[in-house]
Amino acid sequence: MSESHTVQQVSLEAKSPFELRVNLGKSVPESDVRSALATGDMGFLHSFTTGSALDGPGVRVVAWTAGCMWRCLYCHNPDTWTMSNGMPVTVAKAIEELRKYRHGLKIMSGGFTLSGGEPLMQHRFAVKLFTAAKAMGIHTALDSNGFYGSRLTDTELEAIDLVLLDIKTWDPDRHRRLTGMDVGPTLDFARRLAALRRPIWLRYVLVPGLTDDLEDISQTAGFAAGLGTVERVDVLPFHQMGRFKWKQLGIDYTLETVEPPTAELVERACAVFRATGLKTY
Ligand code: SF4
Repeated sequence: MSESHTVQQVSLEAKSPFELRVNLGKSVPESDVRSALATGDMGFLHSFTTGSALDGPGVRVVAWTAGCMWRCLYCHNPDTWTMSNGMPVTVAKAIEELRKYRHGLKIMSGGFTLSGGEPLMQHRFAVKLFTAAKAMGIHTALDSNGFYGSRLTDTELEAIDLVLLDIKTWDPDRHRRLTGMDVGPTLDFARRLAALRRPIWLRYVLVPGLTDDLEDISQTAGFAAGLGTVERVDVLPFHQMGRFKWKQLGIDYTLETVEPPTAELVERACAVFRATGLKTY
């Protein structure tokens, strides 16, 4: 990659992914972006955060990638939609960052999670990071919407100990309205992971009025239970922590008045998953 561009000086480490970050990679020439995506020698990251207890087993170091092909109406990190909002980071630098935490992660039975945005937008970079983490003996998790799961070979999937798979809704039309894209590739990826006996944690964001239809949840639950490798389901209540980002980015936000789900609604959704034999958290 060219050394001629200048990169805005922002720390790779963030307190949380809710920090708004834009244009950090906008000076990277298009040809360098293409070469980075093809080789995986460089990636575009929103940030690294440490100490998460939600993104896989134990305490996690999370690298948040920039770039997503979906446009979920409830996305709480729309600044990660555009790759050029991310900071260009060489794979060597990202691995060096990860190396700092390897002993602590092992002591705390934690690991490394790649989240986003959608990490598989940069699947070559993701594979290199996961392979390096595994070589350090670190547990690895991929948090993905699964749409680009077919980009990974079966061998590459072996470097990923756990997939946190986001299924947004079962209904194909609702899925298109909610995300702008088809649900099929996500379900295909889930089936493939199951066939390979790879563990999955299912993530389901519960949004009143959008994803709280119990029949729809029941269909998702039935599919997940049938896979046989879903170890747990995280029902994630919608929140408004990302609202300010939509405003600051000037994107039309349609959920302005939507309240987080009540505890009763969360419990009802969990009960639907549990009724199929799945464990919910
Ligand atoms: S898949 Fe995730 S990052 Fe992409 S738009 Fe949806 S919620 Fe946002």
